[in-house]
Amino acid sequence: MKDIFLLDMDETLLDFKRTERENFFATLQKFGVKADERIFERFHEINDGLWKALERGETNREKLVVTRFEILFAEINVTGVDIAALSAAFFANYTEICHPFAGAAEFVKTLSERGRVYIVTNGAGFIQKRHIADAGFAPYLRGAFISEEIGFNKPDLRFAQAVEAGVEGYARERAVWIGDSLTSDCACAKKAGIDFILYAPHGAPKGYCGAVAKNYSEVLAILGHLNT
Ligand SMILES: [Mg+2]
Repeated sequence: MKDIFLLDMDETLLDFKRTERENFFATLQKFGVKADERIFERFHEINDGLWKALERGETNREKLVVTRFEILFAEINVTGVDIAALSAAFFANYTEICHPFAGAAEFVKTLSERGRVYIVTNGAGFIQKRHIADAGFAPYLRGAFISEEIGFNKPDLRFAQAVEAGVEGYARERAVWIGDSLTSDCACAKKAGIDFILYAPHGAPKGYCGAVAKNYSEVLAILGHLNT
């Protein structure tokens, strides 16, 4: 019986790319830097690459938040900007912008009626907690495991161990992890030795042969199968 649900948040419950886009254009405008879609896409790539490096333990969040703008501005020849101040403003502004996917809060509510729901997310505590509240998830959650507070990022085994230690009555056969990332969520679920469902609205990447859901209804259907 699956009744411990571990849910990733960004790009699983929240439209993080939309939040990132709005934050990017608003912050750069504030600092007088002109940007267009092409520049945003490049920023997204740089940011993604650095988060993957973070998952591999090659950088830390403090460096990442500044490095992403240093790399971008060097590429587009922007000089004379206080990058430390800009990245601090960008980072802080994340709290103000939150876009849950359609049906996300309803999905969390449905899961909460079938068991206990926990958020498992890589990110800053103050941002993720604000998003949990703003998205309307808080009433349905039993807890949130946030990498900054734990001290380790997914897919570090110690993140999974913090979850095991922090969920009352934890048992591997009762738990299932749901997330959009193969490198952080799937890898961490594997290390934790528990079932995993990939949330992939655009389909699973080539080579992935585990459970995959295109929407929340499909997640619930898969959970039904896991219980039979
Ligand atoms: Mg995610």
